[in-house]
Amino acid sequence: MALESIHPAVRAFLDASPKEMIVGGKKVKSISGKTYTSINPSDGTKLTEICSGDQADIDRAVEAARAAMEGPWGRMLPGEREKILRRFAELIEKHSEQLAQLESLDNGKSLNHTRMIDSKVAANNMYHFAGWPSKIFGQTVPVSMPEMFVYTRRDAVGIVGLIIPWNYPLIHGTQKISPALAAGNAIILKPASVASLAMLYLGELGLEAGLPAGALNVVTGPGGVIGQALSSHPGINKIQITGSTAVGKQIIQNSAVNIKRLTLELGSKAPNCIFEDANIEAAIAGAFKAAFVNSGQSCVAGCRLYVQKPVYERVVAGLLEIAGKTRMGHAFDSDVDLGPIVDESQYNTITGYIKDGRESGAKLLTGGERLSPPNVPAGGFYLPPTIFTNVADDARISKEEIFGPVVNVYSFETEEELVRRANNTTYGLAAGIWTTNLARAHRVASKIEAGVVWVNTYDFFAPNAPFGGYKQSGYGRDNSFEAIESVTEVKTIWVPTRQ
Ligand code: NAP
Ligand code: MG
Repeated sequence: MALESIHPAVRAFLDASPKEMIVGGKKVKSISGKTYTSINPSDGTKLTEICSGDQADIDRAVEAARAAMEGPWGRMLPGEREKILRRFAELIEKHSEQLAQLESLDNGKSLNHTRMIDSKVAANNMYHFAGWPSKIFGQTVPVSMPEMFVYTRRDAVGIVGLIIPWNYPLIHGTQKISPALAAGNAIILKPASVASLAMLYLGELGLEAGLPAGALNVVTGPGGVIGQALSSHPGINKIQITGSTAVGKQIIQNSAVNIKRLTLELGSKAPNCIFEDANIEAAIAGAFKAAFVNSGQSCVAGCRLYVQKPVYERVVAGLLEIAGKTRMGHAFDSDVDLGPIVDESQYNTITGYIKDGRESGAKLLTGGERLSPPNVPAGGFYLPPTIFTNVADDARISKEEIFGPVVNVYSFETEEELVRRANNTTYGLAAGIWTTNLARAHRVASKIEAGVVWVNTYDFFAPNAPFGGYKQSGYGRDNSFEAIESVTEVKTIWVPTRQ
């Protein structure tokens, strides 16, 4: 195992411990002085200490954000905001290696992945939304009244709290920061505790780009404390979260305090459906990737795989073959396909579900057991691709999100049956369909209850393609003009034109 070396700028960033929050344009310690330890999931070693905030730190960040809205940031003209966001995007691009390394060190995703995808998407998101500030138009309204001029404008919502998970911090972070800044809001970002480092680095780049003090604050600490403080704070106008459905429900309740605007990207249990007329080799490779990218720690993971009966055995054999070739190891090992599970607690959740699946009578075909040295580094929680068959539709592992490298393979006979079973879930974030029948592709896509449906592909995203869920996967959309709409208020203005 030859590991890539850590970039000197990343080393210097980690060595400047404890990592401070960014509030009011400055790096600051938590008011209580508390810190927590950031661990590298690839080998269990300590990366650095991070300042741990609580209610008082959120109060301080709200004051800083309010001052920004009442000061230069709130008064800034759209063209100026565009220039700053473009500079921000350029800096993200220039620092993409540092950001990729920090993300891989922090959440264990392979460096190949964070270099090729996460750091690039982060820059793309910022470049895309950097162009929006001067294009957020209102409308003129043709009311049926004489001599009355009516028009709308879109104002910033105000102070926006952004809460993101640990699986794709760079992507989820920039997906929310970019439109919120483009529309002129002030932000308080709370990254996940186990993967905060890339967001702290990004916050520093925002200052270097010229964002005025308080426009982008990053506050670190436990979700149960500062996430809670954000969602119940009367001075915050909107919360956007990507996270679990349980936390989303808590946020909905807390938001009642001041009727906060909410955008919720929550849990999922995505169906991926292979019809007998599919290009089977492409479908097998696609289904494997859909289920196991980032060790299945992905909101859109195609973890319920439905295969039409005539091709079922062939698909299962194909998945087993790829599973057997999958290389697991340290995120900095360039020969590796999949890294570790993010931490012990997530590992315990996943293996709890695997145990439950076995006890429910499902058949474990491969995986399910932690790998040990010398095959993988000591100190990391490495779980190989795990495949279940014979899973009952009402088993817990069919219904609940596992958020790990576990796929259930079901067989089905008819299209009607498939649609009914695919939709038999409380979630509705994503789905996949594999078929060469064009009519069937469109017909089934229209019937699936999910915010995104991929046909003969999976896992594609773009900053101008809306993304979000049906049902308990949340409401509102990230990306596209939908994201701009979600961080603006519409104001209607009436002006009589008779003197
Ligand atoms: P999580 O426990 O809900 O945490 C998400 C974020 O919420 C973290 O920053 C967390 O902080 C914070 N948080 C925890 N308790 C909170 C509270 N009471 N109030 C406010 N914020 C709180 O989810 P996770 O386990 O990190 O991430 C996995 C989940 O995210 C899965 O359910 C997955 O489906 C979902 N997800 C959804 C999407 C999507 O686009 N729909 C994308 C990715 C992930 P701490 O880290 O400090 O606990
Ligand atoms: Mg970490």
